[in-house]
Amino acid sequence: MDGSKGLEALGAEARKFISTPKKILIDGAWVTSSSGETFEIYNPATGQVVAHAQSGSKEDVNAAVAAARRAFDDHSEWRKMSPANRGKLLHKIGDLILANADELAQLESLDNGKPVVVARVADVVLAADIFHYMAGWTTKIDGGVLDLSVPFTPGTEYHAYTRREPIGVVGQIIPWNFPILMAAWKLAPALACGCTVVLKPAEETPLTALRLGELIMEAGLPKGVLNIITGFGETTGAPLAGHPGVDKVAFTGSTEVGKLIVKAAANDLKKLTLELGGKSPNIILNDADLSKAIPGAASAIFFNQGQTCCAGSRLFIQDKVYDEVVAGIAAYAKGLKMGPGLDPSTQLGPLVSQVQFDRVSGYMAAGKTEGASLATGGNRWGNEGYFVEPTLIINAPDSAKVVQEEIFGPVLVASRFKEMDDDLVRRANDSVYGLAAGIWSQDVSKIHKLVPRLRAGTVWVNCYNVFDASMPFGGYKQSGWGREMGHQVLNNYLETKSVCIGY
Ligand code: ADP
Repeated sequence: MDGSKGLEALGAEARKFISTPKKILIDGAWVTSSSGETFEIYNPATGQVVAHAQSGSKEDVNAAVAAARRAFDDHSEWRKMSPANRGKLLHKIGDLILANADELAQLESLDNGKPVVVARVADVVLAADIFHYMAGWTTKIDGGVLDLSVPFTPGTEYHAYTRREPIGVVGQIIPWNFPILMAAWKLAPALACGCTVVLKPAEETPLTALRLGELIMEAGLPKGVLNIITGFGETTGAPLAGHPGVDKVAFTGSTEVGKLIVKAAANDLKKLTLELGGKSPNIILNDADLSKAIPGAASAIFFNQGQTCCAGSRLFIQDKVYDEVVAGIAAYAKGLKMGPGLDPSTQLGPLVSQVQFDRVSGYMAAGKTEGASLATGGNRWGNEGYFVEPTLIINAPDSAKVVQEEIFGPVLVASRFKEMDDDLVRRANDSVYGLAAGIWSQDVSKIHKLVPRLRAGTVWVNCYNVFDASMPFGGYKQSGWGREMGHQVLNNYLETKSVCIGY
């Protein structure tokens, strides 16, 4: 099939990148998969094939883990590199991301479907940010000196201290919703801590991870420190998650696959961090500034076509402002300019894939049952690609599928509440997930009363979907284990060694 339709918007660099055969990175060399198999990469705006990627096999994973092990276990260039030089290298990667930002944004938009303007100002810039931020931490990873009071060895004194050491070889498995950003959130802290990595991008969106790999090698990372294997979950991800040569797995994706990763890692008790699904409550109180709350609550769900694990997908609106908020969000949704991500005027692009389109369409249909009704949307948009209309469902009971399950599309479920009381808190927390929450109010005391009661890893107040390299992100309950970003993320990639010297 001719996949050139709609690609006129690509710059020369992005065009060149997608027309070059894609390889995988093992031990510093770009090679083809041992199976010789490839898979197709689609443009979600048209459904056409735009490139092919290598389908990584178990043998490729074995070779990549072996390379990462050598780079970690041997007294290698990487292990000898000073923290300051590691920091300079990370900084250079951040700079290279910014220097190639237009190309990366175009590739991201082509691969994932997201608006190129958003990819340029958010995904790519935040990806550079985490490398720059982590560059500063390499020289600040330190231990402590301990005064021991050992009662049973009179006469012996001790000098004891702790060292923070890299955890080893890390397997990193990432999703398709923020491909370059998820790669950066994983790679930057792992490299800052001195680990070596085998990265597996999502099969839907491997392009920017591969381009990032090229930039990282250009920055001067020694061979074997980063290996990138494209491929499918079962044939590439599963062998990586269960590989005995991997010390730690860091995973972002669905809660369902997260549970498989836990099982795979259980065999040899690998260290594990997980960033999983969400069904985040977003609460608008009567006193909220609706000129901010309405567009804020709308973009909390419609950002990234709703394919955001922390999307504000359950909206709770207090009685007095319910009608105005519902009407306002419906109008906002209708006003969104839909189109291919590569069109700079697009505000809402297609979903990532046919699978995702079918899944989200199923939920939109379910939203018309169980007593629920549609305030806006509910249909496919256009007649090609994976577009769905931004959708607002109302009157669904709290037990409905659309309220309980993560839809991962531009589908918001709104419901009404009377008082800011225990019942509201119970309903907001009535989810197996606990990734994020939102509050819209101008009453500081109400905000402070509500924040501690919401069981979520991030609570945004009078804002939503705000991310920063310094602000930890992760979930309560089935939304995950551990935190990414901030200095907390360093714990994911470090071991603590106690050293005790008797004299
Ligand atoms: P989504 O539901 O958002 O597509 P998934 O959880 O299915 O997310 O996928 C996230 C990542 O996990 C992808 O890179 C995918 O290939 C990988 N993956 C899927 N299944 C497995 C598995 N059984 N073992 C390891 N990785 C997997």
